[in-house]
Amino acid sequence: MREGLNTTPLDIDGSRGEGGGQILRTSLALSMITGRPIAMRNIRAGRAKPGLRRQHLACVLAAQELCGATVHGATVGSKYLEFTPGPVRDGELSIDIGTAGSTTLVVQTILVPALAAKRTLRAVVHGGTHNPMAPPFEFLARVFLPHLHAMGAVATLTLDRHGFAGGGSIERDERHRGQLTLSIAPSELRPIEIVETGEVTARRATVVLARLPTHVAERELAIVREQLGFTAAECEIREISEGGTGNILLLEIERAHARELVTGFGEKGTRAELVASRACDELASFLAAEVPVGEHLADQLLLPFALAGGGRFRCAPLSRHATTNIETIQMFLDVPIRVEPHGDAELVTIGRN
Ligand code: AMP
Repeated sequence: MREGLNTTPLDIDGSRGEGGGQILRTSLALSMITGRPIAMRNIRAGRAKPGLRRQHLACVLAAQELCGATVHGATVGSKYLEFTPGPVRDGELSIDIGTAGSTTLVVQTILVPALAAKRTLRAVVHGGTHNPMAPPFEFLARVFLPHLHAMGAVATLTLDRHGFAGGGSIERDERHRGQLTLSIAPSELRPIEIVETGEVTARRATVVLARLPTHVAERELAIVREQLGFTAAECEIREISEGGTGNILLLEIERAHARELVTGFGEKGTRAELVASRACDELASFLAAEVPVGEHLADQLLLPFALAGGGRFRCAPLSRHATTNIETIQMFLDVPIRVEPHGDAELVTIGRN
């Protein structure tokens, strides 16, 4: 055990607030960062299938491998977990979720601890790369990571093979399994501010289509052009043959100081027009709010900002994911996080400035 550490396990109730997997992932990350063991009960009590699913188990095992932790309760269905971390080390990890469970959520667990420990890491993760209720690969690569780069992180993500989790279920067969690779070099995180929006500098609509007729993509892009006024040059169809059956609409906005990517997940029984118009509505309301940080980015930035020791961002009113994540962070770290109204938006200030 490392000297000067609080070795009393931190008791965490996984049913608090949002009651999902993020409490687990943030707790694992902070346990590795601070060296504090955790004892977590009521894991994912707020979800239809509570306890550890394969995807969450993969997060636990990835964390264990990264820091040589001692772990009890790491089985599918477990609602209780003890995790006693060791020091985060340089690593070559290969993590196979075993289903189309989300690879990007595994990244959410190990990326920040490896950065905080100034480690070199290469992690290859097999599973789903485009899952409902999780960041699609492009969200991490094109929205989350550029902000981390601005904070000083040296990290890259590559999509080696698409993996779709269709129909809302993640416990699907092997053909759906994709692969991503995360690489990290020793870096120093520094505080940044994301407060201004700036002019829109680029817009892109991409339909990723696997083993489905091209008209699905064409109908989705017709809605994007009609609802958001995108030009044909701003629309792209990417047809692929790997990763099972899948249809994803990615709507991306770059502004001078901000970026956002909204996703429509096609599913059996939902018309392509509806998938597209829901995604268009989401992007339209993000643009109308005139904020630089979207709903999902807000909850994902909190941890790296807290580790950088400060920073500030402006976003639409925080989601329950974000407020729960603030509570989880404050269980481990003595970092003030202030949320203040700012017109119709909110200003989140992290640190003592
Ligand atoms: P949980 O529901 O607790 O497992 O957490 C889900 C995580 O995935 C949160 O960090 C969400 O912000 C993130 N997330 C869910 N859907 C999306 C999406 N469409 N784009 C980006 N991030 C997402």
